[in-house]
Amino acid sequence: MMKSFLSTTLDFAFPWACGLCGTGDTKLRSGAFCCDCQQQLTRPIENSCQRCAAEVGRFVATSDGCVHCRKSRLKFDSVTCLGMYDEAMRRVILSSKWSFSAVGITALAQLFASAAGDRLKQLDVDLIVPIPQSWQKRIVRRFNSAQVVSEVLSKTINVPHDVHILRRRRNVRPQKRVPVQQRMQNQQDAFRIRDAHLLAGKRILVVDDVMTTGATCNEAVRMLRSHGAKACHVAILARVLDGSA
Ligand SMILES: [Zn+2]
Ligand SMILES: [Zn+2]
Repeated sequence: MMKSFLSTTLDFAFPWACGLCGTGDTKLRSGAFCCDCQQQLTRPIENSCQRCAAEVGRFVATSDGCVHCRKSRLKFDSVTCLGMYDEAMRRVILSSKWSFSAVGITALAQLFASAAGDRLKQLDVDLIVPIPQSWQKRIVRRFNSAQVVSEVLSKTINVPHDVHILRRRRNVRPQKRVPVQQRMQNQQDAFRIRDAHLLAGKRILVVDDVMTTGATCNEAVRMLRSHGAKACHVAILARVLDGSA
């Protein structure tokens, strides 16, 4: 009774609007987004690369990777994503990153959890580790998107997540400002591990918001493996296929 009174009052004070197109028509509502926008954000991908999750042509074989990843030495076992970093995804992620609240990223993470929860459960991981933010980002942003996604996935697949085990060691130049060819090098030694004993023989799921070249996740996975992690999978909201993020 109290709860419904409260939610009615809140709805009145902050009427619902779709997190992407802004429509306030509650008949179209499907969670945080309207049905159309939700459909765009969860567009099924017919064929994606087995190594890096990039969307590829229908008949392209990807057991040895694809045009987006073949030249990279990727150290993770698999990548799971909600979708490609297309216009809809880009708008929600960018506006959420600079927002005061984590509502937008949480909504995307929940869509991701419903779409990919079963696949993530099958990976049979023991621990979820979000990519930490650099201190510059911590100053200007209210929250770490990777941590928000990791929290939602942790509840969905019922696996603990640890936000302390992976730490930033040095401040790398923001990947966005580094040419794509130099991004792997830019991330070298970006992380350090705390409580390494927790990693021995463990299967880890590394979580970030977006992945472009894979350099950040790759370096995190390199560190986790060098401290005894047995398997390392990656989960991201969106796979970026150019240098735009
Ligand atoms: Zn909408
Ligand atoms: Zn690929």
